Amino acid sequence: MLTEAFHERGLPIADFNGASQLSTMQSQAFADGRERVSTNDAFIQPIRYKRKNLTVKTKAEATKIFINEHKVAYGVKYIQDGKVHTAYAKKEVIVSAGSINSPKLLMLSGLGPKEHLSKLNITVKKDLAVGENLHDHVTFNGILIALPNKTSTRVSNEEVIQDLYDYKQMKVKHGPLASNGPNSAVAYIKTDPDLTAPDVQYQVGNIFLNEYIREPEIYDEINIFPTPFYDALLPRAMNVVPKSRGKLLLNPQNPHGKPLLYANYFGDPTDLIPIVKGVKFLLSLENTKAFKSLGAYFDRTPLKACKDYLWDVIATIRQKMALTPKPQPTWLIRQTDL
Ligand SMILES: Cc1cc2nc3c(=O)[nH]c(=O)nc-3n(C[C@H](O)[C@H](O)[C@H](O)COP(=O)(O)OP(=O)(O)OC[C@H]3O[C@@H](n4cnc5c(N)ncnc54)[C@H](O)[C@@H]3O)c2cc1C
Repeated sequence: MLTEAFHERGLPIADFNGASQLSTMQSQAFADGRERVSTNDAFIQPIRYKRKNLTVKTKAEATKIFINEHKVAYGVKYIQDGKVHTAYAKKEVIVSAGSINSPKLLMLSGLGPKEHLSKLNITVKKDLAVGENLHDHVTFNGILIALPNKTSTRVSNEEVIQDLYDYKQMKVKHGPLASNGPNSAVAYIKTDPDLTAPDVQYQVGNIFLNEYIREPEIYDEINIFPTPFYDALLPRAMNVVPKSRGKLLLNPQNPHGKPLLYANYFGDPTDLIPIVKGVKFLLSLENTKAFKSLGAYFDRTPLKACKDYLWDVIATIRQKMALTPKPQPTWLIRQTDL
């Protein structure tokens, strides 16, 4: 329904992994048949033990990259089962420990801000701004689309359990649990026509309306039902080109422990503007044929934190870390901010 509604409002239905992201479509997922799979299942397991040039070490943590006097990385130190090991590279070392642990590993290896590393007695190999580009896509999770009974996929608890049981038994997966997961549709818009690329992305989640309204802050933690069962949609508007930058530092208590993250969301307050414009665009969808034909509407029940504000200009802005997506309520928008 939402892809149809976005389409009616001028967005082409197209592959957002193609040349242009200014589009809408149902979301894509890694899947094997009708079953979601991880990148490990999709790409590593089929070739593990088959390729001579691939060795996978699990439960092994790289703690240092060796860098020689010519500034060439030639190996790593790693810990596995409590023992220290080394591995040497014939050609190159590729760091792919994710956006939190990659800068941590680089800093532990002496690549990072000189002042910070020196304080931790780490020999500085190169004074670099590692860790100083931390940013994320903050989302707005306050607009809820209620679906009438004929569109809702809500079923009894017993039916959910039966579906789970059936899905597990199926050789060829099908049925509601063979769907995409927590994100059913995607759209991108430009909030200013002069932009070269979209600045707002919508990701559409599935929720139970009453439960969400009752406990929006902890809904994600307490909802135990699989995502294909829902009676409302939650289109999250996010600024995908934030200007704010945070910082990641090694933990001075234990540089090998969890690093310190300073998110600095809305450090540049103009980052809020695309989100507000994105929400306004979203609200215009209620008049589309796609909405009307299904009887879908924006739920006007004020969230607890927003009871003193008009429903359509206020909700909770919630932060979503892509690596640890635990939304947290943070800010309110007043009508005067729009
Ligand atoms: C819940 C969730 C849902 C998401 N859904 C989507 C989605 O639908 N679509 C999408 O495009 N993106 C999604 N993302 C984002 C996507 O998963 C990441 O952008 C992507 O996985 C990043 O890939 P990466 O290889 O850089 O890092 P990662 O996937 O984080 O891989 C890093 C690997 O390095 C390992 N590692 C870390 N430190 C060390 C070390 N010191 N030594 C050895 N190994 C180490 C980690 O164990 C991990 O296996 C989602 C993220 C989350 C958390």
